[in-house]
Amino acid sequence: MAIMTRVSIFMLCLAVIPVLLAQNMHRDSMLEGVASGKTRVIDLTYAINDKLVPWPGDAKFFEATVNATVEKNGYFTRSFWMLEHYGTHLDAPAHFPPGKTTVDQIPVKQFFGPAVVIDVRAESAKDADYQLSVARVETWEKLHGKIPEGAIVLLRTGWASRWPSIQKYRNQDAKGKMHFPGYSAEAAKLLVARKVSGLGCDTLSIDFGASEDYAVHHFSLGAGLYHLENLADMSELPESGAFLVVAPIKLEGGSGGPVRVFALLP
Ligand SMILES: [Zn+2]
Repeated sequence: MAIMTRVSIFMLCLAVIPVLLAQNMHRDSMLEGVASGKTRVIDLTYAINDKLVPWPGDAKFFEATVNATVEKNGYFTRSFWMLEHYGTHLDAPAHFPPGKTTVDQIPVKQFFGPAVVIDVRAESAKDADYQLSVARVETWEKLHGKIPEGAIVLLRTGWASRWPSIQKYRNQDAKGKMHFPGYSAEAAKLLVARKVSGLGCDTLSIDFGASEDYAVHHFSLGAGLYHLENLADMSELPESGAFLVVAPIKLEGGSGGPVRVFALLP
């Protein structure tokens, strides 16, 4: 290697280090800022009750029973029963073949990452069957840089504004087929190649509503990613710069389960 080339690589490294340091300092101060109120935290989770939008065909989805009351027992407890895939929830890789990992086995580092918010509200308003294209992902990268490894991608379709109306949110036609936007298999392939940790959406499913083969479920869960479905309103999130904390239930052997998702705003 020519000396000049070595010198220029060295100079390039010197130039890059302060940028990386600044990014890390920014992240650190973001976390520290939560307690002081300097960092805003948005909860992307719907409260769990028996009135959320279930997947079509799920007859029983949630039940809570009071076991003890303050009046009778001096303390208050309940027991509850729910589907693993109800309300704001996480799909573990084991949910669809060839995925294997159950919700308790997902490496914890996958639960923390920069949020890549891809805004497709305009496309979704025009076409309820819209599927995120590779070109749209590339447009995001032109504006904000290459999607970093370990990022968590969120598809903002605007569907949260229809929640919790079963009719509007599922948007079923006369034959019962649902119509809401989602990721295309091609876009999922690109995101898996970018080594992102998970894919999220503000609809019932990562695959678009009319999907019959659940191609994205098979492909990205098979690649070890997880999915976040029925995320709450993301309208306050920037397209780049927020940081996500994903906290699913640690249910042994689970195909998924309820998840609490927090976005830290820059
Ligand atoms: Zn699911």
